[in-house]
Amino acid sequence: MARAVTEKAVVGIDLGGTKILAGIVSPSNKILGRAKVATPAQEGGPAILKAMLACVDEALAHAKLSHADLLAAGVGSPGPLDVETGTILFSANLNVRNFALGPELTHVLGCPVLVQNDVRVGGYGEFHLGAGAGFREIIAVFVGTGIGGCVIQGGQIVAGATGNAGELGHMIIKAGGPRCGCGAKGCLEALSSRTAITRRVNKAIQAGLPTILQDRIARKAGRLKSGDLADAVAAGDHVAVKEVRRAAKYLGLALGSLINVLGPELVIIGGGVAGALGGPWVDQVRDAARTQALVDPVGKIRIEPAALGDDAGILGAALWARHQFVSAD
Ligand SMILES: [Zn+2]
Repeated sequence: MARAVTEKAVVGIDLGGTKILAGIVSPSNKILGRAKVATPAQEGGPAILKAMLACVDEALAHAKLSHADLLAAGVGSPGPLDVETGTILFSANLNVRNFALGPELTHVLGCPVLVQNDVRVGGYGEFHLGAGAGFREIIAVFVGTGIGGCVIQGGQIVAGATGNAGELGHMIIKAGGPRCGCGAKGCLEALSSRTAITRRVNKAIQAGLPTILQDRIARKAGRLKSGDLADAVAAGDHVAVKEVRRAAKYLGLALGSLINVLGPELVIIGGGVAGALGGPWVDQVRDAARTQALVDPVGKIRIEPAALGDDAGILGAALWARHQFVSAD
């Protein structure tokens, strides 16, 4: 017997520069099956599409379902995107240009496909199913390799006149500060992302300061994972403690300014760095933000860690697609 449309599952896909995550999500937002594959980021659109399909098929197998059981698919993708046509225009992390991901996936999966900005998809997940459930005025910020975010007002993601609003990572927080990947100087992303913290740790090593991160950073060609930073902070490493605190201070300055402009009910802090460093780091960010927040003298605004971790992208993409393609709720 065919299932009613609204009872069907939706696949949520988180397309990242290093890995693809897929989750088969039930109408009650339970993940029925999941899979993870490496992203062939430099091999172009067809290879990325093939890897995504393999990931979806593996997740479907875990859920004991097939393509015919899918109502829709939602993809959180790096951009910039043309959301209307489901096209990735280009990407800093994927070797694609004008790649019609949505139509290609629709063709193979046989269901409608929503392609949305990866950070907004994560924000949508946290808003509906995570730390933001029950709130309508939210700022969400995700700190990882870079810094992304989204603003939700009146229960809607603010897209702005351009469709691209919410680039919290590229607010300039320190005039004449370090160069950002976007070309500007002193962006939040250039001060508080994992990339920024790692650059500072490398500088400290070059200056001869002792740190337990020296061996790891040498083994990884100058790179660090969020977990490496967390380990060093837990061990009381002076360089790590200092640089992580500095990143928290600048993130707090940015969020305090945003709080003064927008007056949200809740600020959600997520992403790999926040996830690995945990509550004590969010406390540092909150303290720095509070010193700025003129509009909140009694501390009414909540500043909380994200709740969904890596699942925010999968759940947000699936739920957004379900909302988009099922008109009768
Ligand atoms: Zn920037």
